[in-house]
Amino acid sequence: MFPKQTIRIFISKFQDAIVTKNFSVGLATMFKIQNYINGKLQNALSGSEINSIEPATAHTFATIPKSNESDVAAAVLAAKNAFPAWSKLSGEQRMMYLMKMADGIEKRFDEFAEAESKDSGKPLSLAKSVDIPRAISNFRFFASAAQQFSSESHAMPDAINFTLRQPIGVAGCISPWNLPIYLFSWKIAPALATGNCVVAKPSEITPFTAFLLSQVCIEIGLPAGVLNIIHGLGNEVGQAIVEHSEIKAISFTGGTITGKRIASIAAPMFKKLSLELGGKNPTIVFDDCDFENTVSNVVRASFSNQGEICLCGSRIFVEESLYEKFKTAFVAEVQKLKVGDPLEADTKLGAIVSQQHFEKILSYIELSKTEGGKILCGGNALKPEGRCANGYFIEPTVIENLPHTCRTQQEEIFGPVTVLTPFKNESEVLEMANSVPYGLACSVWTNNISKANRIAEKIEAGVVWINCWLHRDLRTPFGGIKQSGIGREGGMEAMRFFTEAKNVCIKY
Ligand code: NAD
Repeated sequence: MFPKQTIRIFISKFQDAIVTKNFSVGLATMFKIQNYINGKLQNALSGSEINSIEPATAHTFATIPKSNESDVAAAVLAAKNAFPAWSKLSGEQRMMYLMKMADGIEKRFDEFAEAESKDSGKPLSLAKSVDIPRAISNFRFFASAAQQFSSESHAMPDAINFTLRQPIGVAGCISPWNLPIYLFSWKIAPALATGNCVVAKPSEITPFTAFLLSQVCIEIGLPAGVLNIIHGLGNEVGQAIVEHSEIKAISFTGGTITGKRIASIAAPMFKKLSLELGGKNPTIVFDDCDFENTVSNVVRASFSNQGEICLCGSRIFVEESLYEKFKTAFVAEVQKLKVGDPLEADTKLGAIVSQQHFEKILSYIELSKTEGGKILCGGNALKPEGRCANGYFIEPTVIENLPHTCRTQQEEIFGPVTVLTPFKNESEVLEMANSVPYGLACSVWTNNISKANRIAEKIEAGVVWINCWLHRDLRTPFGGIKQSGIGREGGMEAMRFFTEAKNVCIKY
């Protein structure tokens, strides 16, 4: 049964929601998520809806609009109409709006964190320490960037060139379920800061915080049409955004297969395209690392957010001389991680985001056994007692004895599963680490800075961390190579992506 306490908390939180209605379905209370188009919350034009499931309990707790190309067309029209006025605002005026959006999220911090945890299954403590603070920082960072963005000039003996950086018009932003508001805001904020209007689509699996953001936009008086948020399925709403001829740039984060599909549609239309895709990231541990610090951080790098972060290290290569010692300490630490109710303060791994993804991860654990893998810990689904008894939980799983070429080591699992592999020397580990089709991130653990730099130079990845993981400065370029994507987000890279450079040459 739907837990009454939780219902009460959410009802009271949403009673004041601007246009949101609670309605009853049998014994449960459902929340109605709506599209945000032209400054107003509204249902899908077709009236169709999709159920939204809380993965920790497997209960349906909300409905979202099952929008289609008509809703996208309405959003694009609203964005086009808003563009002339929004793009003419000064950087300072746009900064003020983005600052207010950050403040609006901060004012409702707990509500955002609870919604994010409920929607995605992640521990509430993680939503409070990472997801929501980062969404606030994203808006503040790009608010300040709106004021500071500048362009180049190039002097000639008889002329001066200057580069105009102009907004593109209407930008499409499509984001995944693993870090819902964190990644959604990472796209929307620079698009708005540079003077574009936006049609955005959050994942249908985790729509809740994007909906709360639309309420914040209304509360702070963001001009109608500047940001439009459409809910629905990827192959309907997402694809309609990509196909719409008036949307001139697509910023997408998600799976590699979806990225390929988007590229096949957007490239012939000559749209600007930023693709942040999957990963199969190596963690490289040398025997001269700072041992305890390395073990605890490699545990974090492997299992944060149930391993559902594109940057998680899912292939851990350990220098042969340290292998047994590392394995023993690592497995012991992993076994201490508490898996269970995302609302409990000491929970380290919450629920897997959906039943489909839960089954995919379990199928990879089975596959690893057929490939000769030895499960060192975990390997099973887990049924916590109490309200989460029907939720989608998997034990943190460590496997060894797998060739680096097998499917378990080559394909993205995107869950709490990691593989330990010993290596002899730098050239061997580089060959194994670079053997996958992906090239997103890597972490290297050693006290020898020259060795670390050699690896950083030769590793095929867009992001390298040395003696740290997920240590982010928002000014740095972020993105992958190979099948992990094209283009870079972050800092001025994002500001440049959302603008067209126009060179103007004045002859003296
Ligand atoms: P996904 O590709 O299934 O979906 C991502 C988004 O695209 C969703 O909003 C979805 O509705 C939409 N979509 C689906 N089909 C579409 C289509 N045909 N046209 C347009 N949009 C469509 O990915 P997911 O399962 O939500 O997310 C997990 C994936 O995201 C993993 O592969 C992970 O590595 C990747 N990811 C990458 C990064 C990065 O920065 N590189 C960050 C987070 C997640």
